[in-house]
Amino acid sequence: MHILLMGPPGAGKGTQAAKLVEEFGVAHISTGDMFRAAVKNQTELGKRAQECMAAGKLVPDDVTIGIVKERLAQDDCKKGFILDGFPRTVEQAEALEKILKELDLALDCALNIDVPSAELVERAVGRRICKKCGATYNIKFKPPVKEGICDACGGELYQRADDSEATMKNRLAVYDEQTKPLIAFYKQNGLYKEVDGRQSMEAVYSDIIAALRG
Ligand code: ADP
Ligand code: ADP
Ligand code: ZN
Repeated sequence: MHILLMGPPGAGKGTQAAKLVEEFGVAHISTGDMFRAAVKNQTELGKRAQECMAAGKLVPDDVTIGIVKERLAQDDCKKGFILDGFPRTVEQAEALEKILKELDLALDCALNIDVPSAELVERAVGRRICKKCGATYNIKFKPPVKEGICDACGGELYQRADDSEATMKNRLAVYDEQTKPLIAFYKQNGLYKEVDGRQSMEAVYSDIIAALRG
């Protein structure tokens, strides 16, 4: 399995990637998670990414492509991988083709989770994440049993700084301008598949499985 999950911010990429990783045991490569870890640890990468993320803008392509190239060369990617949130620009998509060619790999499909922007703000603003294990919740659509506490590990839940209504507006504009053109890119090379992301998380997952088989 060598796939990428595309979709606007809040579409459910991380949620679906976590289920796929659990079922298929492949590597989960989330550039957003990698950048957040770098910001938390205040590494050189984190210092470069921080401002862009806070403003809801993309981290520059050269930086992003560099970390994905390194990540894909790691051993655990040999069992397959899910790219979540990368590529986000046509330049990144072209770089990915080159990286995969060098590794003698090819993508099986580019799967887009389609959700209209009106629903995305509500999803993102309600998103909560476990500090300890990274599990994702939603105060409206997937509330934890005990408010503010992770069902899986008892860790404390937090809200991402960029999951505010104002920053989400910027992220959606950036998506329309820079990331949406990837739909045409992957349609052109025949890898594009789409699922309706407005359904329940379970229904989206079964559609993804069907799309991967079909
Ligand atoms: P979401 O899944 O809600 O869209 P992510 O966790 O994927 O958010 O990304 C959070 C932020 O990290 C983005 O707004 C952007 O600043 C940065 N980022 C993540 N992936 C990329 C990428 N492929 N290219 C540039 N910036 C990225
Ligand atoms: P992304 O990685 O694309 O930004 P997430 O998987 O983090 O998206 O989901 C964004 C928020 O929406 C989370 O709070 C998640 O629990 C919630 N969510 C994910 N999928 C659905 C769905 N099908 N219906 C309702 N809420 C969802
Ligand atoms: Zn947890």
